[in-house]
Amino acid sequence: MDGDIEKIYEFRHELGRGAFSVVYLGVNRTNGQHYAIKVINKNDLGKDYEKNLKMEVDILKRVQHPNIIALKELFDTPGKLYLVMELVTGGELFDKIVEKGSYTEADAVSLVRKIVSAVDYLHSSGIVHRDLKPENLLLKTANNDLEVAIADFGLSKIVGQQMMMQTACGTPSYVAPEVLNATGYDKEVDMWSVGVITYILLCGFPPFYGDTIPEIFEFIMEANFDYPADYWDHISKEAKDFINHLLVVDVTKRLSATDALKHPWLNNNAASTTALP
Ligand code: ADP
Ligand code: MG
Repeated sequence: MDGDIEKIYEFRHELGRGAFSVVYLGVNRTNGQHYAIKVINKNDLGKDYEKNLKMEVDILKRVQHPNIIALKELFDTPGKLYLVMELVTGGELFDKIVEKGSYTEADAVSLVRKIVSAVDYLHSSGIVHRDLKPENLLLKTANNDLEVAIADFGLSKIVGQQMMMQTACGTPSYVAPEVLNATGYDKEVDMWSVGVITYILLCGFPPFYGDTIPEIFEFIMEANFDYPADYWDHISKEAKDFINHLLVVDVTKRLSATDALKHPWLNNNAASTTALP
């Protein structure tokens, strides 16, 4: 059965790998088009994972946005699942940050606007990514480090679907507020990630760090971070205000994707002109 996909696509070298998948370059034998084919070994996975995989596929099929990796085709065999995806060739944003040290503020504005618009699109479709990080942000081409696409929906879930399940499971009139809140606030995790990514893009290191994991967690729990002068003095106050409104513990006070798109940092050119302490 796996032979079917090999009749259509020639598998070339490995492009990358995640916890449960290997991604290969696949070339369509008929038209020579290049794709990224994610191969997931089902035998390694439990029942829950199988459910998550199906969810990832359902999500990817619905999603269409210039800054989100598109799913072209799916092959489901007893042993393996093959996801034929749009190929991007610029590598992980993470590696680009390491290579450059950090992005200029004007470039960070351009990148973050694309990331937030993709997140806004996902959230308005009832999708929460839940694993936004530079490793899951891929650059579309090698010669333009400002064209970014979001990959890897393995951990995301459909808010709308969960809402429907809740409604189906009991009379909505009796549902406690925290149940609804838990779902409603879920998408705020992505905006926290946007705050962390923005911070890293601008200075090259993460806002929360420590010698041990519990130490890092403690800083995160209190949103305890700062802007070391050597790296941040030349960055605009709008950039810091943007981050300050994302790295907020209280999810009701955190900027939504829609509101983040309206923030001054993403909307005027102050970033390149004003450098205030
Ligand atoms: P996982 O869900 O297992 O973490 P990812 O979707 O993050 O898998 O893919 C793992 C790696 O494969 C990525 O970090 C990237 O290097 C590479 N990769 C994934 N999708 C593509 C793609 N569409 N084009 C090019 N490389 C990709
Ligand atoms: Mg990944």
